[in-house]
Amino acid sequence: MPRQILFVAVSVILIALATRAVEAQTSSHRKASVSTSTRLPSAAFAALETIDPERIRAHVRFLSHDLLEGRGTGQRGGDIAAEYIATQFALYGLKPAGDSGTYMQKVPLVGVTTLPDTTYSVVPQHGDAMNLKFLDDWVGFDETQQTSSDINADIVFVGYGIEAPEYKWDDYKDTDVKGKVLLMLVNEPPSDDPTFFKGKALTFYGRWVYKYLEAARKGAVGVMLVHKTEMASYGWDVVRNSNSGEKSFLKAEGQPKLKVQSWIQLSVAQKLAQASGMDLDKMMADARSTNFHPVALPLKLHAHIASKVRPFESNNVIATLSGSDKNLKSQAVIYTAHYDHLGVRPDMPGDNIYNGADDNATGCAILLELARAYGQSAQEPRRSIIFASVTAEEQGLLGSEYLGQHPPIPAGSITLDLNYDDVKPLGAPQEVEVSGAERTTFYPNVQAMAKDFRLTIRPDARPEAGHYYRSDHFSLARVGIPAFSINEGMKFKGHDEAWGLEQDREYTAKHYHQPSDEYHPEMDFTADAAMARFGFALGWEAASMQKMVGWQKNDEFAPAREKSQAGAP
Ligand SMILES: [Zn+2]
Repeated sequence: MPRQILFVAVSVILIALATRAVEAQTSSHRKASVSTSTRLPSAAFAALETIDPERIRAHVRFLSHDLLEGRGTGQRGGDIAAEYIATQFALYGLKPAGDSGTYMQKVPLVGVTTLPDTTYSVVPQHGDAMNLKFLDDWVGFDETQQTSSDINADIVFVGYGIEAPEYKWDDYKDTDVKGKVLLMLVNEPPSDDPTFFKGKALTFYGRWVYKYLEAARKGAVGVMLVHKTEMASYGWDVVRNSNSGEKSFLKAEGQPKLKVQSWIQLSVAQKLAQASGMDLDKMMADARSTNFHPVALPLKLHAHIASKVRPFESNNVIATLSGSDKNLKSQAVIYTAHYDHLGVRPDMPGDNIYNGADDNATGCAILLELARAYGQSAQEPRRSIIFASVTAEEQGLLGSEYLGQHPPIPAGSITLDLNYDDVKPLGAPQEVEVSGAERTTFYPNVQAMAKDFRLTIRPDARPEAGHYYRSDHFSLARVGIPAFSINEGMKFKGHDEAWGLEQDREYTAKHYHQPSDEYHPEMDFTADAAMARFGFALGWEAASMQKMVGWQKNDEFAPAREKSQAGAP
């Protein structure tokens, strides 16, 4: 976009914001209790105005350069990206907020590969043992991070494996599952009622991450998840591909872990039911009732899990800007964006570098522009601002999970997380996606701000796919921090919606997680700058308003928030 037009566009936004601020001020005279709108001071406008699409381009170009070798986690290219980001933070005058006075927060990781001499058999009380074939019949990993684990345990069917007090749902019913292997279904009880497991939308309870965690917490030694394509919303191929080869885990820190977290094919589950004199369809139907009770099956899992265990490390890069208010500066808004991508695939002929330009050099570049704009602002917001570029997102949100467990200030003091992941450089956006924002008390502010920025909020087209649980903001939500990602929607100036949808479809089909997700000079970073400015204004507002952001009542993350804020001032 030519400079003049950019200036005009920015001015329009600034006038809108200024008008709104004035309105907010007058209305607060009328109604002193209204505290949702906070005036953005002129210094904030000035800082926001400096956010520059060409600076974002420069960061994206460098971070997705072949020399960075796809920014693999724990690899040289990933480490160079981290150093680059830390260097920028230093140049912007931001304080280090990593380990012992540095910008780096070390994230200890472990790569686990299930080895061919692993055995996995189901032994019925009567009849022959079923020796299941790795990859064809089952896939799985030893979470304990040992090179060898043996299992000889009874199998118990626990329905969906969910205990959700807010929906009055408990598949376990206090059954002692210590030392057992739990057979369970993916997803959650089907519902059209928005107050019951959020209707069609997927909640965290439906995700396998939750199911493994809860089973381990209850002392189970293993989990067998029944894969059914319609329920999982992805085929066995996807399960197999993401569970063959090495899988990364955060290094265990003493939490209970499963000797085997595994998926089994639907046909295998049918055989297990048969061998128990039961019918899988009937078992699945029973699991949909609140009266469901765990069923001890006349089966044992007899397994020897052999693994290659490779410890390695990577870093989150964290900086902070101190707030201006002596009472509020101990609290903060956090901005996050992952810098890692998939590295290089040495066995692949031709271009084997996963540059990750869109995913997620764009998010990092936005984070850096935000850091610069805040760092160089003539005035600070009342609360502090934390900038965290996290690692190992592509390994399963591991860097952000570690950040959530080891935040630079207590999680209960972080008012809001705004995350950026894959903001496509497609021109001037007319929409914004903020899925999850509606679950927070900050949503009215987000709506008002979107209006000021002339952005229409685009709702999540497929809440049942559970995208909310697949990006780094989720790691912070898990520890109670209100969190969501900011994306650019589908409508761009000069194009209809069909064009935007087509760009999205083509990216997903041809470039997503492919070496062709590369930087091109014709990319138009107007969208990224617009999303950065929008996030800047939101972050400033959240950092300045009197009350901290929370979750809506009965949200699944509200209990975690309460826990993290218990006893806080
Ligand atoms: Zn990403």
